[in-house]
Amino acid sequence: MAGIYACDTVMKYINIYEGTVGFIPMVNIQAFKQNVRGVGVDLNQVFPGDKNGKIYEERLAYEFMDFVKEFNPDYVINLHEAWTKFDENLYGKQKDKSFGQTFITNSETFSDYLVRSNLNTNKYIPNPEYKFRIQYFPFKANHSMDNIIDKLKIPSYTVETLRTLPLADRIKYHELCILTFIEECGVKFTYWK
Ligand SMILES: [Zn+2]
Repeated sequence: MAGIYACDTVMKYINIYEGTVGFIPMVNIQAFKQNVRGVGVDLNQVFPGDKNGKIYEERLAYEFMDFVKEFNPDYVINLHEAWTKFDENLYGKQKDKSFGQTFITNSETFSDYLVRSNLNTNKYIPNPEYKFRIQYFPFKANHSMDNIIDKLKIPSYTVETLRTLPLADRIKYHELCILTFIEECGVKFTYWK
């Protein structure tokens, strides 16, 4: 939810003069319109999708993968939200749960780029409670991030904000993360609001 508004905001105010950035504010537009997680199923459970799938999300996942393949970016950043804040104890018990205020990665894509982006994002977050943590997530064959990494060989990371925070704050966090990731991969831009 916050990722959609953050994308819209960044698209409105960014002026890119070197490099290329593609924004997809919303993937499952039908689900958003109906205010549900998925029309048939949760989109993030059916990757890499199926061109002739019976379920809407299966076809959508396929189209999304096809689009990313064609666009062929250096990195793909996914914008998500989670209901529980990162907690060392919970993480120890549930490594395959998404936590809020994290950058999610898997072992193949843990990189200097991710660490740099994480450090630079956190510089702008004074409250240590809300600084982003890097979380290692086990490989999931049906998730978008893992399919982008595995099938398309493109490094991909997921930003998870904490959904219990006010929407305005979550949008600001996503906006900050988008700009930092863009900056750290060498895209040159100005940003005036
Ligand atoms: Zn997520």
